[in-house]
Amino acid sequence: MAELKIYNSLTRQKEVFVPITPGYAGMYVCGPTVYSDVHLGNCRTFISFDVIFRYLKYLGYRVRYVRNITDAGHLEGDRDEGDDKFSKKARLEQVEPMEIVQKYTIGFHQVMKLFNNLPPNIEPAATGHILEQIEMIKHILKNGYAYEVDGTVYFDVEKYDKEKPYGVLTNRKLEELLEGTRDLGGQDEKKGRLDFALWIKARPEHLMQWPSPWGMGFPGWHIECSAMSEKYLGKKFDIHGGGMDLAATHHTNEIAQSEACYNVNPANYWIHTNMLTVNGARMSKSAGNGFLPGELFSGDHPLLEKAYSPMTVRFFMLQTHYRSTLDFSNEALQAAEKGLKRLWEAFRNLDRLYRQSDQFPAVASDSETENRCLEWIAGFDASMNDDFNTAKVLANMFELAPVINGLKGGQLSRDKISKATLELLYRQFNTYLTDVLGLTEDKDVDNGRLDKVLQLLVEIRKEARQRKDFSMSDKIRNELQQQGIILKDEKGGGVSWSIE
Ligand code: AMP
Ligand code: ZN
Repeated sequence: MAELKIYNSLTRQKEVFVPITPGYAGMYVCGPTVYSDVHLGNCRTFISFDVIFRYLKYLGYRVRYVRNITDAGHLEGDRDEGDDKFSKKARLEQVEPMEIVQKYTIGFHQVMKLFNNLPPNIEPAATGHILEQIEMIKHILKNGYAYEVDGTVYFDVEKYDKEKPYGVLTNRKLEELLEGTRDLGGQDEKKGRLDFALWIKARPEHLMQWPSPWGMGFPGWHIECSAMSEKYLGKKFDIHGGGMDLAATHHTNEIAQSEACYNVNPANYWIHTNMLTVNGARMSKSAGNGFLPGELFSGDHPLLEKAYSPMTVRFFMLQTHYRSTLDFSNEALQAAEKGLKRLWEAFRNLDRLYRQSDQFPAVASDSETENRCLEWIAGFDASMNDDFNTAKVLANMFELAPVINGLKGGQLSRDKISKATLELLYRQFNTYLTDVLGLTEDKDVDNGRLDKVLQLLVEIRKEARQRKDFSMSDKIRNELQQQGIILKDEKGGGVSWSIE
């Protein structure tokens, strides 16, 4: 197997990926909080991990990819206070909290599909794993790293830090972290400023609550990922991922919980994706600067100059390495749209050349072109092995495009590269474009043009009928039908069409 290097946030280094079980990779990624639509920033993170999932599979690993659904336990306040976001929304919309969960989970899946993200192997929901979370909290209490106050259970960060560094993931000392937090208020039940809730006592009006050894309540947000990753991937697994914004709190707390419970950091490699920004500010639900994918696909947003297809957006994201920030702009998306078109055009030309591969020699006449092509092709794997550098893979594809187009158009003689290299180029280009990068050709990009052409054909057919030239009008209808385009005569004399 090729040597894959992953930048591990835990050690702040690129490390060779050595799986716990040879040939198998377990990966857990923090999924969406389903009380509202996912925005494009969330999508960037899920697209990044989709490519990582795809690449691990390409390398031949059997992958178990677990991505959770957070459907309970997210409070409005940052100090384990305030209303649960699901309950608040449910009250606002006068529905059951699980109706909110269902609505946004379905929406999330639709968006993932539009972006051509593969579904994870397991998608566990927090509300389906209350028992596992309670068991884990009991264990942490038994080990002495948590305490209960009036039905709420807190993790004791300062006690834990005496034995293991709490800020290990972000390389911060406890003193620094303490400096950055507010003093406890007089009526606070917590012992320490950094303590966080594992279980939260529910007020009677709270809509989502479960019985526990500490009374009616609901789990804190962080415990769900610890409990569910352990259940489906074991106490120690290979990769844990999420957006960079999760490292300082959510993932730091996950590590503390697993260490306190099982004496182990749950993952060998911690991968964090960088943020999608708008005018330099992080796109987030709370900041209200989030584009919804639907707004992007329809162009219906004051900041958008036009609509962009899901594949344009996916491509735009993959042109930047996942650990760099990516700023949203119309110019960048329009450039991506053009770039992606050029890539598909090159691929279509390559496809035609591949079908004529017998015209290529066994030995290339020009070793320079041949070797350059081989280097660019080898660069696909080399770039992905270098911490999943999709930006470099795409740059190599753009280097190859003029060679492919030249061979197809005749500007470059076909004896310049060998048949074997052409076939390798075809296989790798195809595999990378569709399987590894997960791009599909946008059929809808040309829908506007197709509409105009169909309109024209409908006009011609109408004129033919007026002339009583029925053989012409039937011909148009039948030929279109063969292409899967169905014309339908409407009652008022208009004609509509549908594409099968
Ligand atoms: P949430 O639904 O807010 O819990 O976020 C789901 C995932 O999206 C998490 O992994 C976040 O880290 C990630 N995320 C949130 N905002 C952004 C952003 N602006 N850019 C990239 N990823 C983000
Ligand atoms: Zn999580």
